[in-house]
Amino acid sequence: MKLTDLTISKARKGLQDRSFSSQELLTSCFKRIEKHDPKIQAFLTLDKNNAFKKAREADKLISKNKNIFAEKPLLGIPYSAKDVFCTKGVKTTASSNILKNYIPQYTATSIKKLDQAGAILLGKTNCDAFGFGSSTENSDFQVTKNPWNLNKVPGGSSGGSAAAVASSMGLFSIAEDTGGSIRQPASFCSVSGIKVTYGRVSRFGVIAYGSSLDTIGTMGKEVEDLALTIKVIAGQDLQDATTPDQEVPDYVQNLKTLKKDLKIGLPQEYFDQGLDRQVKEAVEKAAATMKTLKAQVVPVSLPHTKYAVAAYYLAGISEVSANLARYDGIRFGEKREEFGPEVKRRIMLGTYALSSGYYEAYYKKAMQVRTLLKADFDKVFAKVDCLFAPVSPFPAFAIGEKSQDPLAMWLADVYTVTINPAGVPALAVPCGFTNDNLPIGMQIIGPQFSEQLLFQVGHAYQKLTDYHQRRPKLND
Ligand code: GLN
Repeated sequence: MKLTDLTISKARKGLQDRSFSSQELLTSCFKRIEKHDPKIQAFLTLDKNNAFKKAREADKLISKNKNIFAEKPLLGIPYSAKDVFCTKGVKTTASSNILKNYIPQYTATSIKKLDQAGAILLGKTNCDAFGFGSSTENSDFQVTKNPWNLNKVPGGSSGGSAAAVASSMGLFSIAEDTGGSIRQPASFCSVSGIKVTYGRVSRFGVIAYGSSLDTIGTMGKEVEDLALTIKVIAGQDLQDATTPDQEVPDYVQNLKTLKKDLKIGLPQEYFDQGLDRQVKEAVEKAAATMKTLKAQVVPVSLPHTKYAVAAYYLAGISEVSANLARYDGIRFGEKREEFGPEVKRRIMLGTYALSSGYYEAYYKKAMQVRTLLKADFDKVFAKVDCLFAPVSPFPAFAIGEKSQDPLAMWLADVYTVTINPAGVPALAVPCGFTNDNLPIGMQIIGPQFSEQLLFQVGHAYQKLTDYHQRRPKLND
């Protein structure tokens, strides 16, 4: 097995046993990037010198103390970060021309925590500019390709992160999800990804999209890797007032226990017309698989789902109008003409929705619907522990297929955008492949702060299946 194919826990074991060094692991990651990234185009910036410096330090620490991993759980593990995380001294663009030369003066809290845990940043990954999109086609720099089929999109907005993990260019990636940006690319590229409860991970130092919806999460080869990484980055941060002082459970320690009499709900609104038959069958089969663990599967209803796309986009773009006012071309950033078409569209629509006379009709209504969406989840979680649902109505689509039709692109977010307004967590895991060998993913949705349960259910599912272990063929 190649070093780059290792999961975090396996790589950790290898480092601890001194089967290979952190420098060797890092070298194989960069070799893989050099070989495959010219066609995949997942990375915007590489940070090679810093990375090797860190790897040398990691090797020294490991040689001195084998138990160092208790203190630094990700020591020597190479990863990538979506290019919306501020990294001091390393270019951070949000994939937008407006920030094409931006070098932050400070580092995002979550990146700092990964650094303290010993993880090694390889570089920054491509995304739709500012996280606005579902395919990476809205990046001002490049379109990332899906490693399973280079003519297809990797999903978005965190398409670079998903493609990097899927093609083993780094062991995990940290990304951001405002309305599906971790889950949808994870499902298009067959990796695992988690969108945490709003506030579970600090947003400090992450370029804002919609501040009441933005969440930070990770993508990896399997659920256990997500448990390991979220444990490191979760928790209260005084720099982000929306992070509560709530204990972070030991997700990894508790991973293997599964609640007895687990009750899984299938929200009927997510299995309606419009859902690809193969995706539907794969998710239903996944739920049926869980019955072998004595889980009970019952139909449930989230009746306000039909309003979710409208409410999410109104809320999101209104916050965009406020958040992107800071790129005024004076304090930092290039001139405002440098904004791409999707960014301009959202700023204009958002400003319109907030303007006097329209605020009540649009923004306020969206906020009222948001309360109803949250209430839908509260009601079903009184009856079931978690929900199984598709992530996207269809598998990865062709590059160029939807980019001329922004509305079609927005509507495709129907299953992911209900989650963020409600603030609940959702875990995306691979659950099948189409006849054309395109990955299918599903999401496991739970009540607020139920990450522990989601990891347990996802891990139990991955013990019963092997979809997450399949890798795209990249001629290596
Ligand atoms: N596709 C959604 C949008 O364009 C979600 C993006 C995200 O989560 N950052 O808004």
